Amino acid sequence: MALRIVVIVGASMAGGRAAETLRAEGFDGRIVLVGAEPDRPYERPPLSKELLRGELPSERVFLRPAEFYAEQQIETRYGIRAIGLDPDARVVELESGERIGYDALLIATGASPRRLQVPGTELEGIYYLRTLRDAERLRAALQAASRVVVVGAGFIGAEVAASARQMGLEVVLLEALAAPLLRVLGADVGHYYAQFHREQGVDVRLNAPVAGFRGQGRVEAVVLGDDQEVPCDLAVVGVGVVPEVAWLAGSGVALDNGVLADEWCRTNRPGVYAAGDVANWWHPRLGERLRVEHYDNAQNQGVAAARSILGRGEPYAPVPFFWSDQYDLTLQYVGHASHWDTTCRRGRPEDRSFIIFYLHQGRIRAALGVNRFKDVSAARRLIEAGVVVEPERLADESVELRRLLPR
Ligand SMILES: Cc1cc2nc3c(=O)[nH]c(=O)nc-3n(C[C@H](O)[C@H](O)[C@H](O)COP(=O)(O)OP(=O)(O)OC[C@H]3O[C@@H](n4cnc5c(N)ncnc54)[C@H](O)[C@@H]3O)c2cc1C
Repeated sequence: MALRIVVIVGASMAGGRAAETLRAEGFDGRIVLVGAEPDRPYERPPLSKELLRGELPSERVFLRPAEFYAEQQIETRYGIRAIGLDPDARVVELESGERIGYDALLIATGASPRRLQVPGTELEGIYYLRTLRDAERLRAALQAASRVVVVGAGFIGAEVAASARQMGLEVVLLEALAAPLLRVLGADVGHYYAQFHREQGVDVRLNAPVAGFRGQGRVEAVVLGDDQEVPCDLAVVGVGVVPEVAWLAGSGVALDNGVLADEWCRTNRPGVYAAGDVANWWHPRLGERLRVEHYDNAQNQGVAAARSILGRGEPYAPVPFFWSDQYDLTLQYVGHASHWDTTCRRGRPEDRSFIIFYLHQGRIRAALGVNRFKDVSAARRLIEAGVVVEPERLADESVELRRLLPR
């Protein structure tokens, strides 16, 4: 089938990068970029960091200047949600009533914050953070508050807690599990992070699931499982995200923890592709499915999907990467380890500079560095090369990591 019209649903990192890649690769047909948010594509990482603290103006987060999309003849539909898909007729239906036919469709609808299902969530002063507008509202609320409770010590919660503390607020950080980031990084790293936050004056409470919110119209306290109350001026909830797939109900596009896709970003329906936070794709080198909720993947998979649509793709098999900034600590994680049998550490948390390696059957699956930039890039190369190495050598600072690479 001739490729004349590409429709991209989701105008953020994956969708935005895909649209610009199509043009950069010489596609001269029609591109329609549909996004539920009122804004053109922008980067979310500053929303919990510099932008939230008021150190970066909103105009600085956009991927491209406003005129870029018209110049590139990318048609945009901002502030409009796609509400249905008919893959047999190859038509996307928008809430405005418009129906757009496509030859290829990219699903890049990302993810949205998981909502807490407890009593009191209707009260004012409870915030979730995903969009630029969310961040602007939360920034104003933090500027007017003195005590905030953050529910959830995952990356978003921990970054918001750090930013609020840097803004001079009293911060209580609640985590339902025994350590922050436990599932992704393991207990040791979680405990270091709890410690780092405590050193900055955050009141970190672990094993503290939230049972509800209390207040007269507005939140005044977060109620814990043991009925204890933590008073606050506002609460921020960061308890994970869920992929945005409701609009695909009944379309026949295969769904399971997101949109199922192969290593070419193709779904089970002809001409329909998926990329970014919404895609649960087959990683050929890892031999398992991944749904990654991070910037680097959204960007690179958006590019990969565009190339695949043009018939110029390659199997998408990256070494995954993400980072998180909290205070003066930059955490970088490279690789993927859903399970591991050994960990070892180079450097000391007390020095605020260390890297932990996660190994399985002698091979490095992933590494997490804190203020350890060179070692993280060496770790990426070791992971890519599939090096088998003794943990003692990884831990030994006198052994240069790059010397462990095969010649
Ligand atoms: C506050 C914050 C901080 C972050 N910090 C980091 C960081 O430090 N490091 C890192 O690696 N990652 C970070 N991330 C994660 C990173 O931003 C995401 O992985 C990335 O934004 C995913 O891009 P995406 O395009 O796949 O999806 P999204 O960014 O979720 O975009 C999807 C878009 O699709 C739109 N949409 C949804 N449904 C529809 C529909 N039916 N019709 C039309 N449009 C629709 C949405 O409104 C949204 O604009 C952060 C995320 C947040 C929220």
